[in-house]
Amino acid sequence: MARYIDSVCKLCQRCNEKLMLKGSRCLTPKCAMERRRRATGRRRRISDRGLQLIEKQKVRYSYGIMERQFKKTFSQASKQQGITGDNLIILLERRLDNVVYRLGFADSRAQARQIVQHGHIQVNGRKTDIPSYQTKEGDTISWRESSMKTEYYKQLLEDIGSKNLVSWLSLDRQRLIGRIISLPTLDEVGAEFDGQAVVEYYSR
Ligand code: SF4
Repeated sequence: MARYIDSVCKLCQRCNEKLMLKGSRCLTPKCAMERRRRATGRRRRISDRGLQLIEKQKVRYSYGIMERQFKKTFSQASKQQGITGDNLIILLERRLDNVVYRLGFADSRAQARQIVQHGHIQVNGRKTDIPSYQTKEGDTISWRESSMKTEYYKQLLEDIGSKNLVSWLSLDRQRLIGRIISLPTLDEVGAEFDGQAVVEYYSR
């Protein structure tokens, strides 16, 4: 599967926004966007079309998806009932790598994707190593028995107490078993992304 291999900080610079792609490093003064803001303090003037493109890229970069797969997800969202922009964000939120990230099992979606790809995660008791796997209401997300012996897992058990959880997920913090209580609504995902701008971008 193709993936982005250049510095992810460049993606933030292209969108002129902090996309928080490097986990805890993004909160430090070492963040490239913070350094750029300190250095320039400037903002560019951008056309409506440019803003839509930036929003589309912002969503795509945040979830770490290549253009082809992003367009496929958009097409799937447009075939569903309801508002396409909202459907798109919810489909992206339901990806297994995103759920692993939201459960606090990883610091960033990129790290979550690796954890999934390396076969550490199971859905409803079955090993699932496809990051784009669409989770559904009632699914349980847990660690494979062999992965529970790793140093990463042991450290996570210690750290998980300090992590916040979104309202559509529940987590057994002793056994690190997550559950999808209900599918996320746009309100629960928060105002991080403007799905409508993505729809307008693809409507031209
Ligand atoms: Fe973006 Fe994080 Fe890099 Fe800052 S440190 S530019 S927020 S990825």
